[in-house]
Amino acid sequence: MNNHVTVLEIDGSALTCNLHHFKEQLHPTTKILAVVKAFGYGSDGVQIARFLADKVDYFAVAYAHEGIALREAGIKAPILVLHPQIPNLVAIINYCLEPNLYNFKIFNAFLKVASQTALQAYPIHIKLNTGLNRLGFSTNDVPSILAQLKETKLLKVQSLFSHLAVSEELKEQAFTSQQITKFSESAQQFQTGLGYKPILHILNTSGVINYPKAQFDMVRIGIGLYGFGNDEKETNQLKNTHNLKSIISQIHSIEPKESVGYNRAFIAKKKTITATIPIGHADGISRKLGNGIGHVLINGQKASIIGNVCMDMIMVDITTIDCAEGDEVIIFNSQDMIQEMADATATIPYETLTAISQRVQKKLKS
Ligand SMILES: *Cc1c(COP(=O)(O)O)cnc(C)c1O
Repeated sequence: MNNHVTVLEIDGSALTCNLHHFKEQLHPTTKILAVVKAFGYGSDGVQIARFLADKVDYFAVAYAHEGIALREAGIKAPILVLHPQIPNLVAIINYCLEPNLYNFKIFNAFLKVASQTALQAYPIHIKLNTGLNRLGFSTNDVPSILAQLKETKLLKVQSLFSHLAVSEELKEQAFTSQQITKFSESAQQFQTGLGYKPILHILNTSGVINYPKAQFDMVRIGIGLYGFGNDEKETNQLKNTHNLKSIISQIHSIEPKESVGYNRAFIAKKKTITATIPIGHADGISRKLGNGIGHVLINGQKASIIGNVCMDMIMVDITTIDCAEGDEVIIFNSQDMIQEMADATATIPYETLTAISQRVQKKLKS
């Protein structure tokens, strides 16, 4: 049981608000797939999936073991595994997970496992590469996939999908339109050949924001659920879901010329009061935030990080802040603070959120 004092509070009502924000922009019949990979973007995929179970149509994870964790926690909803590997295919079937089959190698491997297990119309998902060049069959492969599918009753194509490369960047609208057209044409070809209609989907969060006309039958929302859009304006319409908090473990009074932390990276020029906080680079606080770059909030005031970030702790400057050992420390509680942390470490909120380690306690408040 994780009873660490450093806690990531997941705001359930913010999650619901964000979900509704996207629902309002979609046709009432468009299905919603909630992306809960990477521990629900650094939070807790199980708690998020439990909370959203009756509010969305599908869940997606990246890897099989993430899906197994959801099943073991009692999640009954369909779960798409975006990036399965051949050694995981038996487990995928045992846990009723739905694999994305993205090339002939994994397609044939799954077909083999399916025939050994004597499956009937097992739901699979076919991914087409329309320009991201990451995972997916070439659109030229559609006739061969169809030929293989026609010869078997073991599999049922539950969905056909693709992924956009630059959905957040309107300057690349021409490229994205090309991806959408390519997908749409292949989907038509696929459907005709198949004789039934799989669920079609191509949009992620920023796709929903910029290309709602391409919503097809379902959209896959990840970062948007967790409070981030393509830009500040979009993000302002969403609510922050990730609140990272800790407490002051110890306070020190540092005399001039004394140092703080490893490598003596901070040398006091004047009398300085420091607070030690139980969160470090092993918990997702980048070492780049050390030496005055990052800060936390204590009693509503900014306390900047002093010296180097340690693995398990940071020390912050509380010289002008009225506080005591045991007081609450906010690492972040707004999209602005998360964005600031991302900017200061030359990354994006996706990485800042997913960097929050498993050691931090996760609590969803509904
Ligand atoms: C991670 C992922 C998503 C979610 O993207 P967001 O930008 O977080 O909404 C959707 N689709 C695929 C294939 C993904 O890998």
